[in-house]
Amino acid sequence: MKIMQCWDDSVATDEPLIALLKKYRAKATFNITPGSLDPHQRTSGWKFKDEFAVYKLALDEIKDLYQGFKVAGHSMTHPHLPQLSPAELKAELCDCKAFIRDFIGQEKCGFAYPFGDYNEAVKQAVRDAGYLYARSCKNVECELPLNDPMALPSHCHFMSPDFWIRYEKVRAIDGIFYFWGHSYEMMDDPALWGEFESKLARIADDNQAQWIDIVDIFG
Ligand SMILES: [Zn+2]
Repeated sequence: MKIMQCWDDSVATDEPLIALLKKYRAKATFNITPGSLDPHQRTSGWKFKDEFAVYKLALDEIKDLYQGFKVAGHSMTHPHLPQLSPAELKAELCDCKAFIRDFIGQEKCGFAYPFGDYNEAVKQAVRDAGYLYARSCKNVECELPLNDPMALPSHCHFMSPDFWIRYEKVRAIDGIFYFWGHSYEMMDDPALWGEFESKLARIADDNQAQWIDIVDIFG
């Protein structure tokens, strides 16, 4: 089976996450919002669960931090895309795509809809902007459908209680297993980080499992 994962919102907790991913040689894609980042310093974002202060990465650190991983678009500023005018929509998509090409140096990339929010016009605009796929927030049980790349579902969130049930179903058909998350959801809680590390360790020990990059399916 093949395994793919992606992480949203370009946040400071991606740094310890990346250390873990490297330890277990796991591939991952990071969905970034470059227009919401300060050029030179990490900035305070929002409170997660009213207790954990989420910090956004600085623009000038993301190229080095994400080195060795894939980057994908998540729009410039994380708006509800269906609410934008066509010109605003195009700017959110094309500026983010240009940033990934010119600043990160990655030609082919995918996209993740902010808030999982899209309609037919948004799908078409993402396709027109040159993205190769776009992740929705829909879940599938077993086989990952690849027939509509602009509405790519996943199997589950990384903390989903049925993570392993879904994993085993996909393993039984030698399919592609895809999960996603936000690194800030682990906050500074060693138990949550440990739980995710145990997932990476179990996958690393599974000789049927092989990490792949999402964009490689569509590129
Ligand atoms: Zn997001």
